Amino acid sequence: MTKCPKCGYENPPEAKYCLNCGYKLIQEERERFEGSGLLLITSGTILIVTFLFNALLRVFSLLAIIYVIFGITSIYSGYRLYRGPSSLADLILASVSIIFGFSGTLFLYIIGLAFKGLVTPDWIIYLIATIKLLTDRKKLKNALKMGNVSHNR
Ligand SMILES: [Zn+2]
Repeated sequence: MTKCPKCGYENPPEAKYCLNCGYKLIQEERERFEGSGLLLITSGTILIVTFLFNALLRVFSLLAIIYVIFGITSIYSGYRLYRGPSSLADLILASVSIIFGFSGTLFLYIIGLAFKGLVTPDWIIYLIATIKLLTDRKKLKNALKMGNVSHNR
């Protein structure tokens, strides 16, 4: 018997939720993505630092602002991944950050090489983050399932 800490109802031991009041008896651990999360935070930070320097050294461009925004988004979604994404929106934001971070920094890398401009190999980190997240597919599914469970309650 598992006594509900909220209402005191005696539940069968296998119960996940209190049969009387619906209180969650087993506090499930949220799936965490420490690796991908840290990679996103790192690449986001590099992005911001690089472009702040770029902005100081050259004419401050609109492009720099856009990439700083991407940097901030990367850090935020990386943090959510690290802590354990709690919603589909967290996972979508992380995917968007990775996709734009990768394509954007790769584009700039090529431009930088061609015009001897600013070269940042940040895209490599985004690429690793993508691979890391792809290898965590199973965990992603679990995270989504858990999100659904808590959503229905
Ligand atoms: Zn209860």
